[in-house]
Amino acid sequence: MDSRKKKEPHLHTETFLTDTIALTLLSTGGILSFVGFIIGMFFQTSFLLNLPNLLMALLCLSMLIFMRSDLKTPLKIVLFTVGYFYFPFIFLTNNGLHGSAPFYFLMVFLYIAFFFRGKALVLHLSTTLLFYIFLITLTYFHPRLITPYPDELSQFIDMLIGFVSVAVVSTIITSTSYREYQLERDLVTETAEKLHEKNALLKQMLITDHLTEVYSRQFFLERGEEMFAESGKECALLMIDIDHFKQVNDTFGHSAGDEILKRIADQIRSQVSDEGIVSRYGGEEFTVLLPDVSLEAGQRMAERIRSAVEQLKYLYLEKCTVSIGVSSSAEAETMMDLIEVADTRLYQAKNRGRNQVVS
Ligand code: GH3
Ligand code: MG
Ligand code: MG
Repeated sequence: MDSRKKKEPHLHTETFLTDTIALTLLSTGGILSFVGFIIGMFFQTSFLLNLPNLLMALLCLSMLIFMRSDLKTPLKIVLFTVGYFYFPFIFLTNNGLHGSAPFYFLMVFLYIAFFFRGKALVLHLSTTLLFYIFLITLTYFHPRLITPYPDELSQFIDMLIGFVSVAVVSTIITSTSYREYQLERDLVTETAEKLHEKNALLKQMLITDHLTEVYSRQFFLERGEEMFAESGKECALLMIDIDHFKQVNDTFGHSAGDEILKRIADQIRSQVSDEGIVSRYGGEEFTVLLPDVSLEAGQRMAERIRSAVEQLKYLYLEKCTVSIGVSSSAEAETMMDLIEVADTRLYQAKNRGRNQVVS
């Protein structure tokens, strides 16, 4: 459950991106339309010609105020309004192709390109383009439909506002998208690294015994099969079992038993060092797999381990011993044979009075 919750920001990145763009569009659209209205009123005397500017500003600002929670819908409404009502107004009142209309057309195109995906993108881009072509064709044959600027100064100011609008909006959209992309990329890299670490940990957990930190039974069996399959090489196996360990548990408790188990495992590991593979085969049973080692050499190693374990000192226990059965690949057909022979010899060691090696 927890991990699922943590993943959620991932899934909302796209919504966040479109929300940011919507916010940009609504606020800059509102402010620029308002500025356009004020300047228009200053230079063009007709209030009617400037009314769409004012309506546009009010539309954007009211959407910002009332529909903050879900910006996708207001964004679509504004895009529609700008594309199909506001834009032709600019085109017809501001000298058509020679005025600021191309800037606004470019802006509408940018919004569409950033906001829509797939089929919707193609649909909106092509209808907007067709609409633009229709307007140009219409005014080509009926040039009187276009109202020219009253003077050069108002043309210059209007063009300037158009240019600044496109520059501001496209810069904000691009930087927002890029920042989002960077965040997403960082998140992906971070997740990949975590996954890598977790995989390594999982692998480690699979091959190591949790309590004693020697190899697991699983790892021993796998490596054993591999080693056995290496033809022409002899290997030895030591099967080690702690003597009367149940008694130790019963007398001193299970956690004291765990501590002793760990110390004996450490002792075996230090004796074997990198000459072989030490693993925990079962509860208080360990195996040592020795590559390139004969039965005799295996027996010597077993004796060393037995003696080293016997010499360990404990706080309340006088001593704890082990019995060991040794087998060699020279006398076994399969890995299972090798284990069985060592096990039989271990049993013999127990019967002969424990704390000894049989090979
Ligand atoms: P023997 O000399 O015949 O091997 O006697 P034993 O008491 O060691 O043999 P047995 O197989 O009857 O008992 C093994 C005991 O090892 C039983 C169990 O309580 C203990 N044991 C197994 N795994 C653990 C462990 O992880 N921690 C502890 N503390 N004890 C364990
Ligand atoms: Mg035992
Ligand atoms: Mg046992």
